[in-house]
Amino acid sequence: MIAQRTLDHSIRCSGIGLHSGRKIELVLHPAEEDHGITFARSDLGVTFPALADRVTDTRLCTTIGVDEAQISTVEHLLSALAGLGVDNAHIEVSGPEVPIMDGSSAPFVFLIQCAGIRNQSKPKKVLRVLKRVAVEEGEKRCALYPAAGFKISYTLDYDHPLLRQRKVSVDFSRQAYTREISRARTFGFLHEVEALQKAGLALGGSLENAIVLDSHRVMNEGGLRYEDECVRHKILDTLGDLSLAGYPIVGAFEGELTGHDMNHKLVTALLADPANYRIEALQADTRAAESLAGVPQQA
Ligand SMILES: [Zn+2]
Repeated sequence: MIAQRTLDHSIRCSGIGLHSGRKIELVLHPAEEDHGITFARSDLGVTFPALADRVTDTRLCTTIGVDEAQISTVEHLLSALAGLGVDNAHIEVSGPEVPIMDGSSAPFVFLIQCAGIRNQSKPKKVLRVLKRVAVEEGEKRCALYPAAGFKISYTLDYDHPLLRQRKVSVDFSRQAYTREISRARTFGFLHEVEALQKAGLALGGSLENAIVLDSHRVMNEGGLRYEDECVRHKILDTLGDLSLAGYPIVGAFEGELTGHDMNHKLVTALLADPANYRIEALQADTRAAESLAGVPQQA
């Protein structure tokens, strides 16, 4: 049996919110079996599950919540939890967004590893994709289809010398999330960052927490962490957004030029028809049949 996993003990950190520029406290707690991932706005005393039907905005990041209790930029933390195979956790956030940290999920991976991960007694549940589900808007398209294990392929193609026709595929049963994906930072173009800050957004954004590109190069002094870091960040985001399906996915994702908006539409389309998927417990025989079967490696 592959067991459900949670944190060994609670752990906290603080950082600034990308959009508000405010200091935010984050606390991760263990949770019981079958709890899933939940968030609480600790300043408002409101709790809600990290599920696709709680998504309220997908324009610059993924935001989930109820009424006035919203939490933005959940995707990097959710990506770290999914990437490390954590099924159950309760997360308290003291303000309207998860701290941006360094713009990647590596600080969250480190935090979770410091808390420790422990196996629980019930088997891990996964969502197995049974039929191809796709969404398309203009040149943006993404799809989930049946496959053994869990894979994400992503193609970026921007009118920028560093971002033309870049495709990266990651098979999470063979490649380690921590090493291959978690260090990839979010990115933006200089003119976009300037426009956002004029509009009172991305106030916490800086070269400390994002790759910033001008018309032909990377502005960050240290350069890139991976040669194709921007595409890898798209995969990091995708993993976080897909986790809002509520279970690790057994299947393959292919995306081109998509972001949080299309990821959310895809998960919503997947869950809209029960014929598209099956929730199943991962038993030992299933594991033998398909390697790590949608359970990202712990690295
Ligand atoms: Zn991101």
